[in-house]
Amino acid sequence: ISLPKDTEGGTGGQIDVSRPYAGAKYFEQMPLSERTKKGLKESKYTHMTAIQRAALPHTLCGRDVLGAAKTGSGKTLAFLLPVVEKLYRLRWASEDGVGAIIISPTRELAFQIFDELKKVGKYHSLSAGLLIGGRKDVETEKEHVGRLNILVCTPGRLLQHMDETPDFDCSQLQILVLDEADRILDLGFSGTLNAIVAQLNRERQTLLFSATQTRSVQDLARLSLQDPEYLAVHAES
Ligand code: ADP
Ligand code: MG
Repeated sequence: ISLPKDTEGGTGGQIDVSRPYAGAKYFEQMPLSERTKKGLKESKYTHMTAIQRAALPHTLCGRDVLGAAKTGSGKTLAFLLPVVEKLYRLRWASEDGVGAIIISPTRELAFQIFDELKKVGKYHSLSAGLLIGGRKDVETEKEHVGRLNILVCTPGRLLQHMDETPDFDCSQLQILVLDEADRILDLGFSGTLNAIVAQLNRERQTLLFSATQTRSVQDLARLSLQDPEYLAVHAES
């Protein structure tokens, strides 16, 4: 694990609240709710992967993170756990509306994220929905997106709702996740992402995960993250 840039912003000069969790190996050791721990245990997740060990101490304490680790390294839980924990700690309920948005490059990946969320979030009462375009009727979707707490979306469909759905309100958004950011950009969604990010409130936490650290990922990071921790996991452990 390498931590290339410990920028002044992130923790500079202050007590580092992520520190007590720096050497943790198991989910059980992390500051997670009992509900989440139960969901993890049932899903047979006990040991954290390298990117989870590197990212969770930061993501769980509310920091922006740019995390790079290769495909299959377990990035999904590194962002799903802070999403669920943040809304749980805030006692987020259906009337609070959209609290978290997770953007994924493809429908297939969005499905996988949603499945993982259903597993680890099983004991929470948060509502979640997939906004991925395709066969699903956008008009029917428009009627209930406003009541969902966690949205897992592809960029095009999310922007469509932001532009067309009258009562789609993400002004209370707490956490934004850009997953597989390099692929989102490779697929030509850079303009769509910029339009989405421009409409979101600045007070949110943002997590950006990518398999590679390209120039365009850096540009996106500059646009969407504030004082991020840069975490890159190179080798399996
Ligand atoms: P990435 O997004 O980095 O490509 P995923 O989050 O999709 O990786 O995880 C890859 C696989 O590893 C999935 O099948 C997932 O269930 C599994 N996995 C993730 N974290 C753990 C863990 N802590 N323990 C065991 N398996 C895990
Ligand atoms: Mg992934």
